[in-house]
Amino acid sequence: MASLDRRAEHSGAEQPDDELYRIRHSLAHVLAQAVLELRPGSTLGFGPPIKDGFYYDFLLSEPLTEADFPELERRMRKIIKKGQRFYQEDLLAAEALERIDEMGEPYKREYGAELIAKQGLGTLSFYRNGPFLDMCEGPHVSDTKQLPRDAFKLRSLAGAYWRGDSANAMMTRIYAWAFAAKAELDDHVARWEEAQRRDHKKLGRELGIFTIDNDVGRGLPLWLPNGTVVRDELEKLAEELEFKAGYQRVATPHLARESLYFKSGHLPYYADDMYPSMEVMDQGHAEAPQSTAGEGGAAVKEAYRLRPMNCPHHHKVFAAVPRSYRDLPVRLAEYGQVYRWEDSGAVSGLVRVRGMCMNDAHIYCTEEQVKDEFKAVMRLYQEAYEFLDLDDYVVRLSRWNPDDPKGRDKYVDNPEAWTASETVLEEVLKEMGVNYVDGVGEAAFYGPKIDIQFLTVTGREESLSTVQLDFSQPAALGLTYVGADGQPHMPYCIHRAPFSTHERMVAFLLEHYGGAFPTWLAPVQVQVVTVSEQFDAYGAEIVATLRERMVRAELAPSSDTVSKKIRQAATLKIPNVLIVGEREQQERTVTLRRHGHKAQHTLALDHFQTALLETINARSRAFLLPD
Ligand SMILES: [Zn+2]
Ligand SMILES: [Zn+2]
Repeated sequence: MASLDRRAEHSGAEQPDDELYRIRHSLAHVLAQAVLELRPGSTLGFGPPIKDGFYYDFLLSEPLTEADFPELERRMRKIIKKGQRFYQEDLLAAEALERIDEMGEPYKREYGAELIAKQGLGTLSFYRNGPFLDMCEGPHVSDTKQLPRDAFKLRSLAGAYWRGDSANAMMTRIYAWAFAAKAELDDHVARWEEAQRRDHKKLGRELGIFTIDNDVGRGLPLWLPNGTVVRDELEKLAEELEFKAGYQRVATPHLARESLYFKSGHLPYYADDMYPSMEVMDQGHAEAPQSTAGEGGAAVKEAYRLRPMNCPHHHKVFAAVPRSYRDLPVRLAEYGQVYRWEDSGAVSGLVRVRGMCMNDAHIYCTEEQVKDEFKAVMRLYQEAYEFLDLDDYVVRLSRWNPDDPKGRDKYVDNPEAWTASETVLEEVLKEMGVNYVDGVGEAAFYGPKIDIQFLTVTGREESLSTVQLDFSQPAALGLTYVGADGQPHMPYCIHRAPFSTHERMVAFLLEHYGGAFPTWLAPVQVQVVTVSEQFDAYGAEIVATLRERMVRAELAPSSDTVSKKIRQAATLKIPNVLIVGEREQQERTVTLRRHGHKAQHTLALDHFQTALLETINARSRAFLLPD
């Protein structure tokens, strides 16, 4: 049977036979009754339960605002107290439509008529409680006394087109949270508020991290000075870890001839995720498939693409010089800018973007080296996460699914290579003592991978980093090295990106730290606050000394009052604030206040400087105070 309350829209967390589903659905009717009391003459749209409550859509006779919520909630509680029974009734089609006409509900009528005509329903179901009548499949609680009076809360108002179609009327949607018990509601609201407080778009704006400009384009973030500092610091850390692990850095262009992507296999399979091709007139390349005007001299049409991945460029760097088995492994690293076409509906903040900079590297090695290289990559990941103070993650071994009926389109067809490489990854994880879960059908098209999924502070699961073993792209691009036998062999390739993209990582870290970056990552590391103008010279001297040592120190504007300066530093979540006045100036000391801490420490300027530099160099989360 079709649902009259659009059950299909629900997230699936609750089913109609759940108690919670009945509570939420019944509360939606109670809300509608309260709205019709407060705004007589309003008409009804849909009002389904959703994953944390319910909503109801109305075409209101007079607007409502959130200021009306307490009054609506009061009326809802009154209805609950009355103990109205829910009565269900099935009416034959013609009778049902008459009933809806009596109700004066044009939207319910449109939907009811459609259910009869298109879906061939012989009857429609109605529910009545007190004076309120709704065309509805149910189920409901037996009477309104079964509903919790203190475990629901009206949340927000939103505009919603009837049936989601912008050609239709714009209705008012009232969202509500609803649970079986008050404690669950309180817990949910607290978590929701925390998530709002840590939202990377909100913090990104407040802390001057990034902006999106319509003239530049959707999904193309502009990094502001403070955000650029965070990016640069992450990049510096990645560079150091990679340098110590024997990587070499390369720099490659953001675009390439389209033919490269046909060779690599990205086209046509990956075309939907790529920007369309750019055509230019150029001197013909001898091997260009588009080249029709012959060789040399004559101009021909050439197509270029913005790159969606760095791999093909790196493969070409590998191929640029003859490689012997003695040269392997070759580890090529680049923070590479890539561009992917995301649906405008999916584009959001820094999390879903159309231009991103990836902490990429490709490791080319022999089959015998795969295991050790993979282990080294996993160790580098662990080290990176320690610096970032990330320990809440799950490791997943993502395998192909040989039984997938669409497997031929999804995976490179080479069962032996799949089995062999999955075994290698499994051994790596086991030998390293890493706990992992199996993810069948989660592999990349060219090979299995290890995914690292983080649990965010607000309880979201986020897949940030992967390591992939590739036994197919090197062959597609004809990569070889000369083996000990003097014969050409195909190298294996490991794709890895521990720091993900700058966009995803910074969004994640903003949320993780709630915007309060540790000193080494903070855009402003030290803010000097003088208690009055007469100490500005000493303050400026401190700033100059620190900046001389590459510390991002700033002097708070002297036109502000001391309390305003301190408040401002707290708003910007600056990790270290130095307060200087008469005593500090005389004794050449500073009074240190750490963000989020009440205690203050007065210490000699020299000591502070030494401790600060140590804290920054160690990338320590805590401030390493001298003994
Ligand atoms: Zn209903
Ligand atoms: Zn790659």
